[in-house]
Amino acid sequence: MARIVVKFGGTSVAGIPQIENAAAKVAAEIARGHQVAVVVSAMSGVTNQLIEYCREISPLHDAREYDAVVASGENVTSGLMALALQKRGIQARSWQGWQIPILCSDVHGKARILEIDGTEIARRMDNDNEVAVIAGFQGVTSRQRVTTLGRGGSDTTAVALAAALQAERCDIYTDVNGVYTADPRIVQHARKLKKISYEEMYELASSGSKVLMTRSVEMAMKMNVPVQVLSTFEEPIGSDYPGTLVTRDEDIVEQEVVNGVAHSKDEAKVTLVKVPDIPGIAAGVFGPLAEANINVDMIVQNVSQDGKTDMTFTVSKAELQRAMQVLKNEPRLAGIEIRFDEDVAKISVVGIGMKSHAGVAQTMFTALAERGINIQVISTSEIKISVLIAAEYTELAVRALHAAYGLEGDRKLA
Ligand code: ASP
Ligand code: MG
Repeated sequence: MARIVVKFGGTSVAGIPQIENAAAKVAAEIARGHQVAVVVSAMSGVTNQLIEYCREISPLHDAREYDAVVASGENVTSGLMALALQKRGIQARSWQGWQIPILCSDVHGKARILEIDGTEIARRMDNDNEVAVIAGFQGVTSRQRVTTLGRGGSDTTAVALAAALQAERCDIYTDVNGVYTADPRIVQHARKLKKISYEEMYELASSGSKVLMTRSVEMAMKMNVPVQVLSTFEEPIGSDYPGTLVTRDEDIVEQEVVNGVAHSKDEAKVTLVKVPDIPGIAAGVFGPLAEANINVDMIVQNVSQDGKTDMTFTVSKAELQRAMQVLKNEPRLAGIEIRFDEDVAKISVVGIGMKSHAGVAQTMFTALAERGINIQVISTSEIKISVLIAAEYTELAVRALHAAYGLEGDRKLA
C-alpha cells in the first residue's frame, strides 16, 4: 500500500465548501488504496490578516510572538479538515507542529525544519487506518517555542513530512493545474509541463515562480521526494499524473534546452557610484549586508576608470530599506553616493539543456535587443540566465523570450 502526502494551499481550504471538496480528494486517494497524510495551509487571506494584526500593534514586534500569532491560521484548518474527513466516515486526527514534533531552528519567522519524528503518525496509519491532518508552516524549537517557516512554508512541511514518512509522492494541491513554461496570465500560450527536474523547478522558484516555495524544492531534491503540483478544482482525467511532476532529471525523457521563463518584481537595484577600485571594497559592501542577514542576488562591477568603479547589485524589495541603512552606516563606504531603483524586474530563462548547448544566452540577448529592451545586469548559473530590466518591460520580455525559445503550445492539450 503506497503512502502519499497531500497538501492543500490557502485557496483550496478557503471556506467550508472548499474544505469539503479537498476532503473528497483525500477520500478518493484512500479509495485508490493509498495511505494518506494531509498538510493544510491557513484559509486564504488569514495569514495576511494575522501578520497585519501584529504590525498594527507594533511594526517591530517580538518575532516569537509573531510566530505564535501567525501559526494559528493553520491550526484552524487542520481541525476543520479532520472534521470534514470524519464526516465522510474516515478516521482522522489533527496535529500541530509541536505535537508531532516538527523540530525547527529558532530563526523565528523563517525557521528551518531540522527533524520530523513520523513514528506515531506512521503507526496510526498502519494500525488504525488513521489519516493525520498536519498544520503546515509551523514547528517547535528545542526551547519549546512555536516557529513558522516563512511565506509559503506549508509546501516545505509537506515535502519534509513525505520524506519522514517515506511516502511515495507528495501532491501539492493548489489553484493552478501545474507548472507552466511561463506565467499563463502573461503568456496566453504558455504550456503546462508534464514533468520538470528538481534543479529547474528550484531555479524557477527562486526566480519568481510562485507555485512552490523554493525551500520545499530544495528539500524534495535532497530527499528525493517526487512532488506533483495539481489543481484542487479540476477533476483529473486519464493520466496518472494530471498535474506537473517535479522529479529527478534522469526520469525525464524529453528534454528541452529551455523549459521555463520566470519573472520577479520583488527585487530592487542598488548602485554604489564611483567607489575606489581597491582590494577590500566588495568585502566592505557585502560583509555588512551578510551580517544583517540580507540576501544579495545579482552583482556587477565595472572596469574602473581613474581608479573608480560603479558597483551594482540587487536585494529583495522587502529588504531594500534595511540594506540602505546598513550601507549608509558602514564606515568603509563613507562619502560614497548610493542610489537605488525599485522599478526593475528580473527575467530568467531556465533549462537543464543549457549545460550542453551553446548559444542559449545569445538567443535571450537578441530577443530583448530586438524589442529595444535594455539589460542592466546579467547573472548566470549552470542552468539559468537572468537579466535585470526596467519593470515596465516585464510582460513584453517574458512574451518575447517564451517565443524565442519556442515554448508555445496549446494549453488545452498539455
Ligand atoms: N499560510 C502560510 C502563508 O500564507 C503558509 C502557506 O500557506 O504555505 O504563507
Ligand atoms: Mg503556496
